[in-house]
Amino acid sequence: MQTTKKEIGLVWFRSDLRTQDNSVLQNAIKNHKSVIACYCFDPRHFETNPFGFKKTEQFRTQFLIETIKDLKQNLKALNIELFVAIDYPESTLNTLVKKFDISSIYVQKEWTSEEITTFENVQKNLPQSINYFETFDQFLFHPADISMGFPAIPKVFTEFRKKVETYSRVRFSIENTKAEPIKDIINESTIPNLKDLGFDDFETHPNSAFPFKGGESNASKRLHNYFFETKKLGFYKKTRNGLVGTDFSSKFSPWLANGSISARTIYWAVKTFEKEHFKNQSTYWLIFELIWRDYFKYISLKHQNNIFKIGGILKKDYQWQTDKYLVNKWINGETRSSFVNANMIELKKTGWMSNRGRQNVASFFSKELLLDWRIGAAYFESLLIDYDVHSNYGNWMYVAGVGNDPRDRKFNVDLQAERYDPNGKYQNIWLQQVLF
Ligand code: FAD
Repeated sequence: MQTTKKEIGLVWFRSDLRTQDNSVLQNAIKNHKSVIACYCFDPRHFETNPFGFKKTEQFRTQFLIETIKDLKQNLKALNIELFVAIDYPESTLNTLVKKFDISSIYVQKEWTSEEITTFENVQKNLPQSINYFETFDQFLFHPADISMGFPAIPKVFTEFRKKVETYSRVRFSIENTKAEPIKDIINESTIPNLKDLGFDDFETHPNSAFPFKGGESNASKRLHNYFFETKKLGFYKKTRNGLVGTDFSSKFSPWLANGSISARTIYWAVKTFEKEHFKNQSTYWLIFELIWRDYFKYISLKHQNNIFKIGGILKKDYQWQTDKYLVNKWINGETRSSFVNANMIELKKTGWMSNRGRQNVASFFSKELLLDWRIGAAYFESLLIDYDVHSNYGNWMYVAGVGNDPRDRKFNVDLQAERYDPNGKYQNIWLQQVLF
């Protein structure tokens, strides 16, 4: 990459909130003597969406605040100041560009409509002379390495997985280097608390399956604990359909979603585990699931805004209901299925739901209540700690029959409850909560 003449580069953090294995950050450090960074709590992320839900609820907001605190500290260790604002990136970046005479902005490349609009607003508001260095950094298999163009991404996951496993390699994690400190730099920006963002303080629910805190340091701790201290990775395939507790699955998704850990870091940690301990179906299966995550990113790259449309990527012309009464019954855990109800109450009280739960409640919503799947997806978007646009809309389309499921299955929630919660332990935890 060409060295730019201006001394200070600017990294605009969005969903890559880490200092480890961050190629956007490292490009900036490589190209400039010094670097500053910026994160905006964009007011648009806290508005009400067209389906009537707040775009980001308290759980993900709290996690994000913790993440930014950790990011700020870790950037400091690299001699980089993080400027934080509750404001639109287009105005905050403008101020920083003027103040520090910035000519280059480094940012992770995003392609979904809201992110594109914000990026275009930034470009409109800033001098035309600014160079933007946009880099894909959220994948396990980098788009440049997958040996197929986006239009050729297969309709079916297995075909995609076999291709990337055969023809691609996961890149190595990037070594960290430091920038030079900026003498006498003044940074009076502060990190907001929940109140600043319009929420009351709250306690994490004692039964939450995700009692963890945000930030890359906590992501590393979790990885170390799940892989190396407890070796739970070695049983992952047997436990991953669980419902109760912290360890039936990795719980990496919230950190992955805001980029406080990279998929590559997890991949290489699995490889280290396999070398130091053992290799089995479980160690492979965690990578298998990370490939699902990549797959939904490639699906949205291929189909763009169709992932948000009612007909989905299959452009299906189904009749969907929008009955508010039924939607609220689902949200509040008052349907005919106690299994669905328990999962919905867990989500409402914690911002978390297992993968098994998500599949069941989404199938029930779209295939039994016949409700517009986008309402369910928008509710998930609001509540989930680990909301990720590609995984959320990709999975919802898949379950609703407008996406990538070649078999278009409907879950029998009663049989699922018998199979995955035979003694009702999970349902008891959450249904009892209703009484209190
Ligand atoms: P693990 O089982 O430990 O898996 C490891 C990682 O693999 C996960 O962290 C995740 O990054 C990836 N992964 C696993 N399953 C999937 C999957 N089905 N699709 C994509 N990636 C997967 N996941 C999100 O991260 N954000 C979402 O907004 C989201 N919405 C969903 C909505 C529905 C309707 C459904 C059915 C699934 C959704 N998922 C979403 C996928 C999945 O449920 C979660 O990734 C998983 O439950 C997170 O728990 P974990 O980290 O312990 O996963």
